[in-house]
Amino acid sequence: MTPSPPFDPVLLCPEDPPPFTCLNPEGQPRFLLTCDHASNAVPQHMAGLGLCKKVLNSHIAWDIGAAEVTSHMSQNLNATAFLSGYSRLIIDCNRPLGSPTSITTVSDGIIIPANRTISEQEATARAEAFFWPYHRRISETLDCLITRAADSGETPTLVAMHSFTPQLVDGAPRPWHIGLLFEHDARLVAPLRNTLEALVPNICIGENEPYAIKGPSDYSIPEHGQNRGLPHIEIEIRQDLIDTPEGALLWAGRVAQALKIVCDENPPFEIISPVNSGP
Ligand SMILES: [Zn+2]
Repeated sequence: MTPSPPFDPVLLCPEDPPPFTCLNPEGQPRFLLTCDHASNAVPQHMAGLGLCKKVLNSHIAWDIGAAEVTSHMSQNLNATAFLSGYSRLIIDCNRPLGSPTSITTVSDGIIIPANRTISEQEATARAEAFFWPYHRRISETLDCLITRAADSGETPTLVAMHSFTPQLVDGAPRPWHIGLLFEHDARLVAPLRNTLEALVPNICIGENEPYAIKGPSDYSIPEHGQNRGLPHIEIEIRQDLIDTPEGALLWAGRVAQALKIVCDENPPFEIISPVNSGP
């Protein structure tokens, strides 16, 4: 097995990316976009976690196409977007810290060598270097937008962008083009479904497909959306539709247009009583 040195923050070098990227920081407050699985980067000193390039470029390391889609949507909606800077295999920014899949040891049948014997100290160091900077900035930005909303009346809508592989190793083909995911607050789901169906002929939309959000196992929507009572939606797009520049541009345009229409044609989505998913 390829040696996989542990993470050491002291060994991060100028070639390693920042823990997150903020696009369009002065964007309009109407939407805030996140992309938890935007990157497949691994710190240079970690020797690719003991994985080969092919695996690190596959869907287990990141959400293929999601960063491009989120970037286009940030422009289309004139919205601020936060993109995580590192692979979900280092630490998953959409899992609560300490959960079994936060630093996963196996993904879609592939063992992650660097995660099999990780110490508590290293797990904490990864969280401090990659998880917390991303989520702290999202929290600060949302709290700022909510404060401004008290005057402007423009409640921010949180849109969490993801992508999914067309088929897992042991799974059936996934027919949906796009999934609309929610847990306790479904306010955006039906309007978004109806609008996408009107915009895109023969679109196949899954509600809570191919995954459902569950408070104890998901992080971003429960933490940033539900706990603040903000209108929100998690959107999953099938990776074979957005793994080219043309596909990413096309689907970003469709989703952004649908979100705009939904927010233009409905009464304002207000902040509601927070729903704390809890463990
Ligand atoms: Zn994802």
